[in-house]
Amino acid sequence: MKLAEIGEFGFIARVRQRAESCADLVLGIGDDCAASRPAPGELLLTSTDLLIEDVHFRRAWSDPRTLGRKSVSVNVSDVAAMGGKPASLYLGLGIPGGVAVEDLDAFADGVLEACAEYGAVLAGGDTCRSPGPWFISVTVQGRVPEGELLTRQGARPGDLLWVSGRLGDSALALRELLAGGRPAPALAARHLDPSARVALGRALAVQGLATAMIDVSDGLLADLGHILDSSVVGARVERDALPLSSLFRDALTAEPALLDLALAGGEDYELLFTSPPQCAAAVAALAADGVPVTQIGRILPQEDGLLLVDALGRPCPLPRRGFDHFS
Ligand SMILES: [Mg+2]
Repeated sequence: MKLAEIGEFGFIARVRQRAESCADLVLGIGDDCAASRPAPGELLLTSTDLLIEDVHFRRAWSDPRTLGRKSVSVNVSDVAAMGGKPASLYLGLGIPGGVAVEDLDAFADGVLEACAEYGAVLAGGDTCRSPGPWFISVTVQGRVPEGELLTRQGARPGDLLWVSGRLGDSALALRELLAGGRPAPALAARHLDPSARVALGRALAVQGLATAMIDVSDGLLADLGHILDSSVVGARVERDALPLSSLFRDALTAEPALLDLALAGGEDYELLFTSPPQCAAAVAALAADGVPVTQIGRILPQEDGLLLVDALGRPCPLPRRGFDHFS
């Protein structure tokens, strides 16, 4: 069955039947607006992402369910980066009329499944016909207690620089996909089905351990650059401290230049944050949550700029910023 046969309202009705509700959502899908009641003392966080077929994703690489999951995760990652908890998501979808309803149902499965994993609900959206590519626009709203908001500002010289998880796997998988290869399943999953680090972001916020935070979407150095600009500081990154998976290390052995993918590849969706040295033991203990955290450097005064150093402390050349996957 094609989308054209059930139409926009048919599709919305199918999704509406399956969308859950949550405590602060007074009214979800089905009226002109969703209505929610924020808790007193909490800030509302809002972020939008746009994913365009053949720009941000290729349908040949991912089944519709996995694409639905990723559309949610990359958006929720921005809420995690502020120390928040996602609450409701809004989905705008532009799709060709010839798309199979089964594919749309699978996409909705992925969206709803990922929402549930993050404790969020799908609260609204819109669909319309696209003349060609898929357009997926996701808006997330999250909550954070007023005193716990983490931003890109607030890093101070002397703070330690930490990153969660492993870097570069997503970009390595994309590189292999673009070359027509089939990345190892664990690598492919890091690109096609990333996880937003909500629990870690909340723990850092609740315990007051971070001074500044961002999620790594454009590449470690580019996103670190945003913290440095906003906080008006510099930083020193230790090249040999970068957390790399065993698959990434294997690839690196064969081709040392691949290290650029860990520094500038992007789409890692890990949390990059700064923390005072006296909090180091408490930060390291958060790794017990299943996602490791690794100290990769230190914040410096602004005049020192951004330095990448080897194990002996010698400066290394920085890769070009903003590695462009599709260029
Ligand atoms: Mg972000």
